[in-house]
Amino acid sequence: MSQFVVEAPTIPTIPVQGSEAAFPVRRVYCIGRNYVAHVREMGGNEERDPPLFFQKPADALVQDGGTIPYPTMTKDFHYEVELVLAMKGGGVNIPKEEALDHVFGYAVGIDMTRRDIQGSGRPWEIAKSFDHSFPCGPVVPVETVGHIQSGRIELTVNGETRQESDVDLLIWKIPEIIANLSTYFELKPGDVILTGTPHGVGPVRPGDRIEARVEKLPTLRVEVGQPVA
Ligand code: MN
Repeated sequence: MSQFVVEAPTIPTIPVQGSEAAFPVRRVYCIGRNYVAHVREMGGNEERDPPLFFQKPADALVQDGGTIPYPTMTKDFHYEVELVLAMKGGGVNIPKEEALDHVFGYAVGIDMTRRDIQGSGRPWEIAKSFDHSFPCGPVVPVETVGHIQSGRIELTVNGETRQESDVDLLIWKIPEIIANLSTYFELKPGDVILTGTPHGVGPVRPGDRIEARVEKLPTLRVEVGQPVA
């Protein structure tokens, strides 16, 4: 007899470059408004406001090479390329000097967004945290790639460059993101953190091919599928 009264959900995982073992995803945290030129294009305050955090469900994950169905309830479905941290440690009130010790590795992700809903002035849940809203490429361990603090970040749609910046332009740097996030939540192994998107966000349509890149990491490729029936 089964241990559960309904089918138990499986733990979403991300492949790890150079390993047979995968990275298990516990929580997906995101920071908003973390590149000045993107804050500016969204009409926000360019001062360094306190960081803005939100989450996506772990099962919003879409694997490299996958298809993202065009979601319901939007006519303005946007990409946001982001550097992703994969955590091996955690805690509460992590000092920023120790923050990088908790990073297992790095990946390229996309924070897919229902932009027309995000602007409603209501909480971001249905704009950000829907099914298939988190495509993510393979995790590259720190032992292989080191810590990524600068390098080109870009996104193309059908081969045309739409976003192009450098990770060193992050407003809140990676140790600060981890330290600040851990003042609100106890971070644990398996958590991933999306570090924010540069300027150039924009819409995609069914059939579009998206490629997202951060220097030194494997390219993430996904396609936008037909609308969810
Ligand atoms: Mn974002």
